[in-house]
Amino acid sequence: MFFKKAKRIKKLEAQVADLKLDQDYLLHELNFHMEVEDEDKDNEPDHSEPCHCGGTMTPMYDEHPNWIKFCTTCDERKEM
Ligand SMILES: [Zn+2]
Repeated sequence: MFFKKAKRIKKLEAQVADLKLDQDYLLHELNFHMEVEDEDKDNEPDHSEPCHCGGTMTPMYDEHPNWIKFCTTCDERKEM
């Protein structure tokens, strides 16, 4: 009876170890993807410009970054 219990505990310990491994792996993957995303952002040209209200004018359409810009703070629009 005791032996059986010990065996069960060993099995659970092994499962916990596996989970820990998965967690480490996931965290590693997450960090990796976040780094990749940051790099992508760096490669994108910055089309935003300061607004008179102190906010930032950003392109309304990513595909046409130089067409219409709008302010994220005061909602002012500007056609280029
Ligand atoms: Zn503004």
